[in-house]
Amino acid sequence: MQMILCRAAPKAMASVPRPRKGSELCVWPGMGQLCIRKKLLYGFMRLFSMPFKSFRSITRALGGVSNFCSVTNMLSSLQVELVPCLQDNYAYLLHDVDTGTVGVVDPSEAVPIIAALNRKNWNLNYILNTHHHHDHTGGNMDLKERYGAKVIGSGLDKERIPGIDIALNDGDKWMFASHEVLVMATPGHTRGHISFYFPRSKSIFTGDTLFSLSCGKLFEGTPQQMLSSLGKITSLPDDTSVYCGHEYTLSNSKFALSIEPGNEELQSYATHVAHLRNKGFPTIPTLLRKEKLCNPFLRTSSMEIRRSLNIPKSADDAEALGAIRQAKDNF
Ligand SMILES: [Zn+2]
Repeated sequence: MQMILCRAAPKAMASVPRPRKGSELCVWPGMGQLCIRKKLLYGFMRLFSMPFKSFRSITRALGGVSNFCSVTNMLSSLQVELVPCLQDNYAYLLHDVDTGTVGVVDPSEAVPIIAALNRKNWNLNYILNTHHHHDHTGGNMDLKERYGAKVIGSGLDKERIPGIDIALNDGDKWMFASHEVLVMATPGHTRGHISFYFPRSKSIFTGDTLFSLSCGKLFEGTPQQMLSSLGKITSLPDDTSVYCGHEYTLSNSKFALSIEPGNEELQSYATHVAHLRNKGFPTIPTLLRKEKLCNPFLRTSSMEIRRSLNIPKSADDAEALGAIRQAKDNF
């Protein structure tokens, strides 16, 4: 059960479509949503502990106001807040409502994270890195110095992750307050890439392994490794929320449509994505169910994709993924 909070600047709020009865607000693919003001939401939370299925809230950049999307899982008390960084990166603040524990996933830079923490009056306990690239770890040292936060990253990349304190490996379990976090090795983009899965919250942080409608470039891995990493992620429940490292979805949708134009689910998702981006809203998180239906890198057996790229029927899924990746690199 998830609750998504919406906090918007007044001007932004005015541009948010009002939810129609029984319909979804067009800011989140495939889920029934309500968008309401945060204070109102907390008021409702006190009145009713169960009946709210999901809430969503988004703030977009307007006159220097940062994008901001907050998702609270009502069963697990985990709150996730999206923080845009650099050009198109997303960092995510994690907040355990019960204990006040706070973490950040992939802080590209310190300044927007500090601003978000100040807004909430939160301290920072943990920094979680999916991989060593600078646009995912650039804020580590400043944040560590300022807050005394512990840095968590892959044991395979402990030489490359700035300030690492806790090295984790595939299959390790780590606790964020009372939330179990499963560490999944997801190599392909880099050799030490890991993803953080929160089973109780049905959420996974995939860094640059799985994007909405794409996957990461194969800098340090093979198509077979990426296929296997994506396979681990897609073995999770369909209603898992996927929080990835970049807002690439709109350009990804153009490539996906170019090689699978007959995919109706993709057509409708691409339209939805264009609408969100046009309004300045994030497209993340996405749902695993949606990705399985639309993401070409999870659809290596699609005959339409294979025909578009001249991938022989006899090619295995890894060969097909390699061909799709190559086509995307040259798109
Ligand atoms: Zn990367």
